[in-house]
Amino acid sequence: MINRRKFIKTMSALGISIPAMAKSITKKSSNTSTVKNNPIIVCSRGEKWGRKVLKPGWDILKNNGLLLDAVEKSANVTELDPKDTSVGYGGLPNENGVVQLDSSIMYGPTHNCGSVAAIEGIKTPCSVARLVMERTDHIHIVGKGAQDFAKAHGFKVENLLTEHARKIWLRWKENLSDQDDWFPPADGNYDTHRSNGTINVLAVDSVGDIAGITTTSGLAWKIPGRIGDSPIIGAGLYVDNEVGAVGATGRGEELLRSCGSFYAIEQMRAGKSPQEACEAVCERIIYINGGKDKINFSDKMVAVNKDGDVGCAAIQGRKGGEPELAYWSKKGFKVLKGTYLIEN
Ligand code: ASP
Repeated sequence: MINRRKFIKTMSALGISIPAMAKSITKKSSNTSTVKNNPIIVCSRGEKWGRKVLKPGWDILKNNGLLLDAVEKSANVTELDPKDTSVGYGGLPNENGVVQLDSSIMYGPTHNCGSVAAIEGIKTPCSVARLVMERTDHIHIVGKGAQDFAKAHGFKVENLLTEHARKIWLRWKENLSDQDDWFPPADGNYDTHRSNGTINVLAVDSVGDIAGITTTSGLAWKIPGRIGDSPIIGAGLYVDNEVGAVGATGRGEELLRSCGSFYAIEQMRAGKSPQEACEAVCERIIYINGGKDKINFSDKMVAVNKDGDVGCAAIQGRKGGEPELAYWSKKGFKVLKGTYLIEN
């Protein structure tokens, strides 16, 4: 078995820097067969976020830049934007009012991955996950350890709770019970909806190499320390350089117990299209739960295969409210409306 640390040391001894190694690895073509729609970069959002999220990644991909830079720079857009209440800075907090972020990254050519979970105070957790992958011999680092690791790499610790997110959290807390001492304001106009969000960014470069990122603030009002599917390889994200990349959003506990993203990759390996593979995960989760009438949550899968074909499906949806995925390829920016299995 190759020892990664020894490998890195040997390469350093040979005078080859790690960024240079990453570059040469990224440039390695593992598939010389004819490829169709790549390069392509995909995210689990529609028109509103898709264009601004994918633009920096597409600019990198189309200029033959590094695949990992492309997915990271795109994922950073949502992480840094306080208007998104489900990812990074501005994300809704846990039940104590503290923002805890989960993120993972996976790189097809090396089958390597990295993740951070329940990390506090760092606006761009996917960039920390990338460093876990590239600069440690580990895969998951959580909590205080993840923050210390980020600090060691020069990340600033900042307050991630925006005023907007704090007010939503406070209203949730004040409306929890009429038996406690927290009173909601008199106007009675409270939106404490436990919204879904998260973002998956997946890409296939011009030589058919594949990478992906999932990043989130997780379930709003979660028990402190709760980790969802997003930082767990195989649940919220999976990449296989021979097959494609898959990302998930929605109720994380279901994606964890179905290994949703890994399951979709295996469906594609067995011959399904990305669309069929996404639907197969939704069907599997419904089956595990005992049928459609037992479902009171949703999950959404997005997938891209090595040829750059995409798919998207959710457990729940409605006409006009179909799950969406956006992609940028040589054909330009496009939004795909996916399928859903249960009408809500
Ligand atoms: N999957 C995320 C989690 O369970 C949340 C979401 O996608 O909305 O943490």
